[in-house]
Amino acid sequence: MVRENMEDVKERIRVACGRAGRPQSDVTLIAVSKTKPLEFVREAYEAGARDFGENKVQDLLDRIDALPSDIRWHMIGHLQRNKVKYIIGKVAMIHSVDSLRLAEEISRESVKHQVDTDILIEVNVAGEESKFGVSVEEAPRLAEEISRMPAVHVRGLMTIAPFVENAEENRQYFRKLKQLSVDIERKNIDNVNMTALSMGMTGDYSVAIEEGATCVRVGTGIFGERGPWH
Ligand SMILES: *Cc1c(COP(=O)(O)O)cnc(C)c1O
Repeated sequence: MVRENMEDVKERIRVACGRAGRPQSDVTLIAVSKTKPLEFVREAYEAGARDFGENKVQDLLDRIDALPSDIRWHMIGHLQRNKVKYIIGKVAMIHSVDSLRLAEEISRESVKHQVDTDILIEVNVAGEESKFGVSVEEAPRLAEEISRMPAVHVRGLMTIAPFVENAEENRQYFRKLKQLSVDIERKNIDNVNMTALSMGMTGDYSVAIEEGATCVRVGTGIFGERGPWH
């Protein structure tokens, strides 16, 4: 089932790229394997997936140990400062940086481990109470502040759009995040680039790609439904 789903998702990505006049190589599919059994993750790996996303530090660590070392792991969930030390040097990207203090901790641990860490700034574009992320207004300043820190590099922006029935309702937020990334890029901040735009999930990744997503994070569409508690 996972293999068929992956093929289906890749086809939809291809179609969305075609509609947007973008090469398919622009878009990285991140398979969000959270809460799913290891054999599902292996199946996705065997079907060609190399980018996986997890939202909990312990699950991330367990899976890194259990799965092939050529996987690029993405931390996509809310990250507590006291857990940063466990994942530094092990993840390709941290998508969920939403405060100065978290970035400082990532910088400190990266220096200590002598590695460079790529991060995205998480933006709560829709201003939902229940969501993490900085506001559109705060994001440029946070990028500037992080730019002065050693061993940590802002590579773009991430957002989790609202849960909606009709994906078109989220187009406005994807467009807004894209515009924000263009605005920040124009500031030419040293050590900051806006290469990555991580937006779009199972319900709305086609729309996100049309609006410029470079990473889509797809869980349900590949691995099936999760319980309502996740
Ligand atoms: C769970 C999760 C996803 C995947 O959600 P689906 O709707 O199952 O595709 C994407 N991004 C984040 C941050 C998540 O926590």
